[in-house]
Amino acid sequence: MQAWLVEREDAATRVQFRVRRVLHRERSPYQTISVVELESMGRALVLDDAIQVTERDAFVYHEMLVHVPACAHPRPRRVLVVGGGDGGTLLELARHPEVERIDLVEIDRRVVEVSRRFLPWAEAAFSDPRLTLHYADGARFLERPPSRFDLILVDAPDPVGPGEALFGDAFYEAALRALQPGGMLVTQSGSIWFQSPLLAAINRRLARWFGRVHTYLASVPTYSIGPWSFTVGSSGPDPRAVDAARARRLATRYYTAEVHRAAFVLPRFVQQQLDEA
Ligand code: SAM
Repeated sequence: MQAWLVEREDAATRVQFRVRRVLHRERSPYQTISVVELESMGRALVLDDAIQVTERDAFVYHEMLVHVPACAHPRPRRVLVVGGGDGGTLLELARHPEVERIDLVEIDRRVVEVSRRFLPWAEAAFSDPRLTLHYADGARFLERPPSRFDLILVDAPDPVGPGEALFGDAFYEAALRALQPGGMLVTQSGSIWFQSPLLAAINRRLARWFGRVHTYLASVPTYSIGPWSFTVGSSGPDPRAVDAARARRLATRYYTAEVHRAAFVLPRFVQQQLDEA
């Protein structure tokens, strides 16, 4: 690996991070898995040369993926995580004692094994006694889910390779069937600058199946220049409304009830793109 990790935003834009050390690199049946230490961002899990998490900014992404739907749902008891092999989403779910059971479906066993070995939070996260781990394609898994869920958290990579199936219309239809009445699905939906067609497509597809669809934003520097988007589909409560008492009890670093409400306020050009989608 070169001394700089180059993150590709689009065909004409790249961001690079200086690599201090390469800790691990292998080819699994699904992808190339690397763990590197970046001078500015700490340890990073990299799949097919795309950064998935880094020690320094992972908390922003995982707190926003988990706590927004979890504090909008009145009582999330059963949660499904799709993807999420780095354990960051599980770590945030550990802050929700009302969750009784967590299923996590990850396609690549090696991502979990490598994360547990190299990422400082992962071993504790995967030791959650409420967790059942499934190694399977999340889209296939949802065709015959073991039960119905209150929340489905889609912690997916970019929609290329094995991750592509996690952004399709059929996936969202199956997800709705796998949710309890009033359940919610949240997915990362890409950069507002470099993946706006993806964000619009996710909104359009979710709106076919879910009564309420809302996008919210946070800045995750190792994912993209500028805000990153998340989109939630709800068959019940308004995801913009937060249980502030529950939000206050979480010992978070980024997420608060105020951040929850503010994150749904979109710049006009983004709102227009979604209205026209
Ligand atoms: N937060 C990250 C991001 O936006 O880049 C995603 C991180 S997480 C490591 C993504 C995980 O999804 C990977 O471990 C990958 O192996 C897994 N994955 C990809 N396609 C999948 C599929 N079809 N079913 C289940 N897991 C999948």
